[in-house]
Amino acid sequence: MKTVLLHICCGVCGIYSLRKLKNDGFSVKGFFYNPNIHPQDEYARRKEVAEEVCRLEKVDFLEKESGSSQWHDLCSPYANQKEGDKRCALCYELRLKETFKEAKAAKFDYIATTLTISPYKKSKEIFEIGKSIAGDSFLAIDFKKKDGFKKTIALAKEHKLYRQDYCGCIFSKA
Ligand code: SF4
Repeated sequence: MKTVLLHICCGVCGIYSLRKLKNDGFSVKGFFYNPNIHPQDEYARRKEVAEEVCRLEKVDFLEKESGSSQWHDLCSPYANQKEGDKRCALCYELRLKETFKEAKAAKFDYIATTLTISPYKKSKEIFEIGKSIAGDSFLAIDFKKKDGFKKTIALAKEHKLYRQDYCGCIFSKA
């Protein structure tokens, strides 16, 4: 069975994505690396929910906590850009690079990311970034396809998961 390290941005986006990968025949592990999330109590909450959905879906969970200074150095120069511009591309890249690093070290076949389930994020751009980092080891799955976003929201409601109302960083919160 092929293995996938799935970068999970939050539990709500994770629950359907994990299920889909499992249904598609992959062995999956959830990977939480999101130094973009602000403030710290929001980070802790999203991590907790991501861990909970991995438990619900019976897959392993791994958190990589590295502090947010690298994210700030990269993304703060673009603080005033609107969501979806350069700041976000750098934010995706940082998170996917770390996912690939972890996947290589642990000998996973593939990586993928829940970021593509959001209707606010351009999957094509995420695919380009993922492929530039991991080549054929990046699974270009558009989780929002076939009502993926609707399905994950329905699952989140069913399990009474916490749903945030901003993307994650200090600039998106503002
Ligand atoms: S809006 Fe979201 S994707 Fe963009 S930089 Fe902030 S946290 Fe990252």
